[in-house]
Amino acid sequence: MNIKANTKARKPSTKQRALEILRRIKELYPDATCSLDYETPVQLLIATILSAQCTDERVNKVTPELFRQFPDAAAIAAAELDDIVTLVKSTGFFRNKAKNIQAACRLIMTEFGGEVPQTMEALLTLPGVARKTANVVLANAFGIHMGVTVDTHVKRLSYRLGLTKHLDPVRVEQDLIKLLPRPDWENWSIRLIYHGRAVCNARKPACDRCILADLCPSAFNAAAHSPAKKLSTTNVKGTASKKLLKSVALENDIQVT
Ligand code: SF4
Repeated sequence: MNIKANTKARKPSTKQRALEILRRIKELYPDATCSLDYETPVQLLIATILSAQCTDERVNKVTPELFRQFPDAAAIAAAELDDIVTLVKSTGFFRNKAKNIQAACRLIMTEFGGEVPQTMEALLTLPGVARKTANVVLANAFGIHMGVTVDTHVKRLSYRLGLTKHLDPVRVEQDLIKLLPRPDWENWSIRLIYHGRAVCNARKPACDRCILADLCPSAFNAAAHSPAKKLSTTNVKGTASKKLLKSVALENDIQVT
């Protein structure tokens, strides 16, 4: 599709832009895959829980020893919690993560016969599992597309690309589901994560070398269309709202005073 030529005649719809962005990022990152290392569904579940507020690179440094000592749900369920805590310490929020990993594995053993469940509903009953983790596990371990994985990169880029007006991951996901074909939901997330790391950085997007620039309302003006700008123009009142602002800022690698 020649979007530039079409733009002069008629502005492409949001859906047309989303599909063209999808086509281009598939071409740009043909071999993109989930960057977490794992051999089984339960290992992917654990790695994804550990990846919250942490890089996949860091998680991949921690999991070989964790999975060597505790290779499956039964082993994690029976482990001393302190041993898990020690092994996952460098991923941040390690006490909560270790507790959630063990509680999730215990539930997998008692309620799901030792296997990671294959439905969104069942996955969401596991401690430490929200829609993002469930989507990653369903798509990559089982090839089931129940939603779009929205991590910090997917949220930031979808927002900058004008495909959503929201910052809440669940609402971003609902917007993306309407724009993208179901078989490409996970494709979208994996490739947008690659693009977020390589080009559309949170602080310094490299619009001058971005193949999406002609489709992007934030091109060369990302600061004006950033989550930080939205946050700073929002009238934030109350402790709960301030907490939300801080957590969104943290996820987007933004300093808020
Ligand atoms: S044009 Fe700039 S802001 Fe838009 S996606 Fe590319 S790098 Fe990000």
